[in-house]
Amino acid sequence: MTSSDRRTFAIISHPDAGKTTLTEKLLLFGGAIHLAGEVKARGAARRARSDWMKIEQQRGISVTSSVMTFERAFDGLGDITFNLLDTPGHEDFSEDTYRTLTAVDSAVMVIDAAKGIEPQTRKLFEVCRLRNVPIITFVNKVDREGRDAFALLDEVADMLALDVCPMTWPAGMGGQFEGIYDLVDNRLLLPEGDSREFQGKVERFTGLDDARLDSVLSPEGVARLREEAELAMAGYEPFDAAAYRAGDLTPVYFGSALKEFGVDSLIDAIARHAPPPRPQPAEPAPVDPGAGEVTGFVFKVQANMDPNHRDRIAFMRLCSGTFKRGMKLTPTGHGKPIAIHSPILFFARERELADEAFPGDIIGIPNHGTLRVGDTLSERAAIRFTGLPNFAPEILRRVVLKDPTKTKQLRKALDDMAEEGVTQVFYPEIGSNWIIGVVGQLQLDVLLSRLDAEYKVAAGLEPAPFDTARWVSAADPGELANFMDLNRSSMAKDRDGNPVFLAKSAWEVGYVAERYPAVTFAATRER
Ligand code: GDP
Repeated sequence: MTSSDRRTFAIISHPDAGKTTLTEKLLLFGGAIHLAGEVKARGAARRARSDWMKIEQQRGISVTSSVMTFERAFDGLGDITFNLLDTPGHEDFSEDTYRTLTAVDSAVMVIDAAKGIEPQTRKLFEVCRLRNVPIITFVNKVDREGRDAFALLDEVADMLALDVCPMTWPAGMGGQFEGIYDLVDNRLLLPEGDSREFQGKVERFTGLDDARLDSVLSPEGVARLREEAELAMAGYEPFDAAAYRAGDLTPVYFGSALKEFGVDSLIDAIARHAPPPRPQPAEPAPVDPGAGEVTGFVFKVQANMDPNHRDRIAFMRLCSGTFKRGMKLTPTGHGKPIAIHSPILFFARERELADEAFPGDIIGIPNHGTLRVGDTLSERAAIRFTGLPNFAPEILRRVVLKDPTKTKQLRKALDDMAEEGVTQVFYPEIGSNWIIGVVGQLQLDVLLSRLDAEYKVAAGLEPAPFDTARWVSAADPGELANFMDLNRSSMAKDRDGNPVFLAKSAWEVGYVAERYPAVTFAATRER
């Protein structure tokens, strides 16, 4: 087993586009649902699985849905292991969602054929772009009335500034849906039965001009498919694997997760085109997955739902080396080596070597708060992974303490939670009201309930006079100092002491940035 047979990816989408449905279908195709419902498991796999179930019970942490692993054999490729990382998308949209994308090698972007690119899809896409994460597009729900396929492709191309390459084409949509045509293999996937689902019925052709097509589709359907598919092949870029892997081109698959159309093409595309683990940005030099030493970074920390336990699970992406149960790893910059006796490993069905993990795999490490988001773990601690960003918060609130004697506890709590990535905290230069920033509403509720339950601090939140924040820097320290002096009432420091400009609106950021061309205003900051 090597890292070249790993595909570590995430699905990005706007709520309701069909991520959950598609995830289930992917897992079914890979046999993992079978695993989830399986009572009998053999040997090492059973031991390992019960390990994590025990941890889930004891600690009240649901970890299995954060990482879903499944395996499948492909002609010419052999067995491929898929690690699908969940990006919580609904009301609990948070920095975790963003940071999970730093731990994947590629992403699948699901869009609803009736809606096109929606706001959350776009935000998540921007994060992928920061790291040139390659994207495969899945246009879902073609069994329902949707927008014109060309309009959808053009929207992806224009809004995301990507070349698009249709790999399959819908033979009609909604009431006129007659199947999905594979433009590469000239296969037509056909619906069956009352439910009009895909149940494996496939017809092969020599090409779009094959006369047999006329006997399979309706006369209108075949005419429309020929015209549209020919136009599409002539009008868009041909598939270019290098451009896809560089994040410049997205192959597009049409389908219906609900009716199981296009799911096997998608999984095949991930196996054949999506990159295996890539070298990861690090100091002093990027780390190659083939390097012998075990290294990884923490991209997510999940706290216990029971406030009486301080237990946490740190999710580490393995970047190089072969991890073995019981191994000692050192967090760079803080702390002594820790022996990882009870890691949570995620298994594909057939994997017998259950005590090992390979680059691209995720390992859950139980700990008591020592491990933080962004931490590098390695055998020798000589490197540090870079590029795990903080994101400019979209919701800012002023924290109001109900008992003024608890200032110290409040500061500790806010610092702790900023470390975990639950919220960000900003200490204004003027005034004593600390400001917290989040990217999703639910984080505010989590913050207040944890302040109360874990830190015994009663606090409230008030609207802040600011709407957004930018980290500021300048090549010339004099320019930065000058800017900070003149804008003191809008300046704050983050938890690490970095200067932050708090703005009343995104418009103000643009206005101020124009007036101070020597100062850089960043919406993300590397930790
Ligand atoms: P998520 O919010 O992105 O996880 O979306 P879900 O998977 O929960 O799907 C949202 C709704 O769309 C559900 O009612 C699904 O049954 C429905 N849905 C998902 N995929 C399809 C599809 O391919 N066709 C149709 N007609 N409905 C779908």
